[in-house]
Amino acid sequence: MDELTHLIDGERVATDQWFHTVNPATQQPWAKVARGSAQDAARAVNAARVAFDEGPWPRMTPDERGAHLHRLADLIEQHTDELVALETTDMGKPVTQCRERDLPRSVANFRFFADYPRFCEDESLPSSTHHIYTSYEPVGVTAAISPWNFPLMLSTWKVAPALAFGNTVVLKPAEQSPGTCTRLGELAIEAGLPRGVLNILHGYGPGEAGEALTTSPDVDLVTFTGESNTGRNILQAGAPSLKRVSFELGGKSANLVFADADLDAALDWSIKAAFTNSGQVCLAGSRLYVERSIFDEFVDRFVDLAERLVVGDPTDPGTDIGPLANEEHWQKVCHYFEIAEAEGAKLLTGGPHQGWWVRPTVLVNTTQEMRISHEEIFGPIAMLFRATDIDEAIRIANDIPFGLGSSVWTSSLDRAHRVAPRLKVGTVSVNCVDALSPQTPFGGVRGSGFGRDLSLHALDQYTALKTIWIKFRDTV
Ligand code: NAD
Repeated sequence: MDELTHLIDGERVATDQWFHTVNPATQQPWAKVARGSAQDAARAVNAARVAFDEGPWPRMTPDERGAHLHRLADLIEQHTDELVALETTDMGKPVTQCRERDLPRSVANFRFFADYPRFCEDESLPSSTHHIYTSYEPVGVTAAISPWNFPLMLSTWKVAPALAFGNTVVLKPAEQSPGTCTRLGELAIEAGLPRGVLNILHGYGPGEAGEALTTSPDVDLVTFTGESNTGRNILQAGAPSLKRVSFELGGKSANLVFADADLDAALDWSIKAAFTNSGQVCLAGSRLYVERSIFDEFVDRFVDLAERLVVGDPTDPGTDIGPLANEEHWQKVCHYFEIAEAEGAKLLTGGPHQGWWVRPTVLVNTTQEMRISHEEIFGPIAMLFRATDIDEAIRIANDIPFGLGSSVWTSSLDRAHRVAPRLKVGTVSVNCVDALSPQTPFGGVRGSGFGRDLSLHALDQYTALKTIWIKFRDTV
């Protein structure tokens, strides 16, 4: 069995306590993982602190740091096969999704942030008495806490910009999927990053390694992706030390399909939006509001397409739907079938499958009052609502605590422009889904968090703006 240790100050660090990470396809443990204690967290934070206060990393030029990050991107690229296999073993994601999306995007994130700091301009402000200018400085020690649904890719969203701007990092991967982040730490050392610049701390959240990071007075910034309730706990834990925080939290995206849409494209992409990664996607378009006149046709075709998805072994390149990532989550998702039935929703297709698989599921006769309509299920369950008109579709789409993303399908540019501003979310995608690139800001509003990952706006998150005044001599 593999052994995943912490990686602190450039060294593998074992502990007395371990836990197992389980392959959800076989339900067998495949590695034992160091169970981080508060002491381990303190050791990792100290390594990052020393590397920040005394080491070369924050003092390098953007070009020098960028060269390291490009080398790391090269190494990720070279280890694609290994990382794909690891991610699939760890959390059941079908290899094809991992190879086509997660890995290239992880590489692209490092490349984008390797280059970006070179182009950040300081400001010089007008004055006849002083030379006033600003400079972007690293915030300090960054705790990056990541979830299990895109273990590597979402960690790169945080690690790449944090490092690029000169911060040092303690990355705590989700306990359910620690494999690829362990390799990321090892590859960073191979790429020549100095000791202590990127530390990997394994373990659980509440009361253990994760929480210890959020309460540590030596952590300057917590960047977190995960559940909204965890975000609330982290906000409270960081309050005494007034930590800077940024949160990418839960979602339950609405997908609005109007009668004038290109129906083939809307169906094809709505299926992907609802069922990719078995619906374990914060942006998953799990609520579909379809205009009344096309509702019946849309439902029939959506069910047909859902039933064609290949449910099976995630290591098979032809598989669309792998198992859910872990047993606890599978039980939670299955419980929603009981809730849906009790609430009166009608199941057209899908349901629990063998092992920890759930077949792509389509529910109708759902109403806004039902729990399934406003709680994040995070599984392959889509619910289709008949929308009377635009106003109703928008009102219901917004009637939810989350505000991460929404899609709109229409061939009317006018309608797209009228609807997009009224949706209370961080990203609206029109006639497309999966609107993601390193150049574009990503994040939510309301219960989906605050702060933006990716894009030029990462600058605000991972740097502190300093203003410098230099007084002129009165006479020259
Ligand atoms: P989670 O909140 O249970 O765990 C996420 C991470 O937080 C893990 O590393 C966990 O160990 C750690 N953690 C848990 N409690 C903690 C605490 N008290 N202090 C410090 N750390 C703690 O989330 P999850 O189940 O791993 O991921 C699924 C959730 O993530 C879903 O809600 C999903 O919508 C959300 N998500 C959001 C985005 C986004 O960009 N908005 C992206 C992906 C996933």
